[in-house]
Amino acid sequence: MSFGVVSLKDHAEYIEKKLNLPRLRAVCEIKDGKNSDWSVIKERKQEIGGLLLKMADTALYRAKTTCCIACNYTFGEKESFKTDKCPRCGNGNLLRGRDKIMVFSENSSPET
Ligand SMILES: [Zn+2]
Repeated sequence: MSFGVVSLKDHAEYIEKKLNLPRLRAVCEIKDGKNSDWSVIKERKQEIGGLLLKMADTALYRAKTTCCIACNYTFGEKESFKTDKCPRCGNGNLLRGRDKIMVFSENSSPET
């Protein structure tokens, strides 16, 4: 099993940046219920939920990839089943991508 891990707390800054939110905590912890616009808050929460799913997907993809120790080339699950060698340099020293837990990192996002 591979897991993609996302933490709302650890990735608050990334989420704020992505969704253009000034303060994520303001959405999650509503103190002044009477003066809050609940329809906006609901919408924001759905956006955050969607982004978290995308982030978990990205992390999971990384958890499934195999990395060549020699040249740092990473390749997907399907490719790694076909061969025991790096498709780029032919080295057999591979870091298998299965059975590991990968925490989301902004740098692993395919968008960047
Ligand atoms: Zn290689």
